[in-house]
Amino acid sequence: MRSPIEDYLQEVLAGTEDGGEVASYIPELAQADPERLAAALCTADGTVYAAGDTAARFSIQSMSKPFAYALALEEHGIDRVLQKVGVEPSGDSFNSASLDPSDQRPDNPMINIGAIATHALILPEGSRDERDERVRLGLSAFAGRELAVEEAVYASEIETAFRNLSLAYLVRSADGFGQDPHEIVEGYTRQCALSVDVRDLAVMAMTLAAGGVNPVTTKRVVSAEVAQQVLSVMTMCGMYDAAGDWMTHVGIPAKSGVSGGVIGGLPGQVGLSVFSPRLDRVGHSVRGVQVFERFSREMGMHLLTSPPLSVDAVRSITRTETDRGQQRSFALQGPLRFSSAEQVLRQFERVTPGDFPVALDLSRVTSFDPVARRMVLEGLRRLREDGHPILLADPKGVLPEPDLGDGSLPERLDA
Ligand code: GLN
Repeated sequence: MRSPIEDYLQEVLAGTEDGGEVASYIPELAQADPERLAAALCTADGTVYAAGDTAARFSIQSMSKPFAYALALEEHGIDRVLQKVGVEPSGDSFNSASLDPSDQRPDNPMINIGAIATHALILPEGSRDERDERVRLGLSAFAGRELAVEEAVYASEIETAFRNLSLAYLVRSADGFGQDPHEIVEGYTRQCALSVDVRDLAVMAMTLAAGGVNPVTTKRVVSAEVAQQVLSVMTMCGMYDAAGDWMTHVGIPAKSGVSGGVIGGLPGQVGLSVFSPRLDRVGHSVRGVQVFERFSREMGMHLLTSPPLSVDAVRSITRTETDRGQQRSFALQGPLRFSSAEQVLRQFERVTPGDFPVALDLSRVTSFDPVARRMVLEGLRRLREDGHPILLADPKGVLPEPDLGDGSLPERLDA
């Protein structure tokens, strides 16, 4: 069978209408073929669907910023990075020359001034070459393939990087970093000139959406905490001065680049990318935005759409006669998190004290998150305190270490 998903991607691309202009402030980008159009989608298990000009390579530009930010966070921890670069939406354009008046930090790491300060945080004691290599290999780990700098793009941008140089001097003057501003802009520009295609970008986005593990190589690139921080900042600041409009309208944590790419990552679900070089006035790919709008609308991908309410976590409650009275057996189902574990506790509350056994059947439970695990174990502990022997059937081992508080374990029904 031919994948309907690839056909869908194709259809979405065909339905877009182009407009706007190719970026020209970086002379090499003005040479891009404006008709190029491609999209890719990477799933949580690392399957990549792609359509259009999937072989087209282009420079990553500002789409490198979330990943460089992730590397800085991984190296120094969130708090130390926060001392240097904030997480507030600026409401300004990507190259605005602004520092927070109260603390002289760049507002966030997604605008150029914050991205330059962030780049300087990577191997701060290292040489420019060492830092470049760390960035290149770090972004390669996100992509699952070794990326290389497009030298022509680098050469072209660095020749006209007056604006970014002024931003670097501004951060340097506010003690944002200690290195030579020139070197930092060179490194940042090389970071932006890394060459990618839509598949790379979809995998990179999915790595963030998968809590920091590359779904294709299955290697951990950054911690889950770092991945969450990066997606949060993308949600608020990734689309610059159109971020509010984007979040309400599309609702996918995203980042755009002046080469014409847009990436988005929906936690636990998909990494998305689109490439089409013509840009709107904010600097977002015109057709890229349209594709994301359709994805959001037609594939139900707005982050804040309420998910279906949890199914009944308690599938059945049965009573069976035992020599110690009527045993209560609770069969649970589905993924257990706070809202479903609360349903379980509510049923436990109805069990009167006594010495009849209480049995828990987890054979239809798919997972416990840490909160649900704590809640259910606490419920069992209290039932035991009320006098009940606790019996547990967990054939798949979804409830790790079912310790009832004092090191005692429930009696296993599946052992
Ligand atoms: N390298 C570009 C710059 O610094 C990146 C900007 C962008 O993609 N929005 O100007």
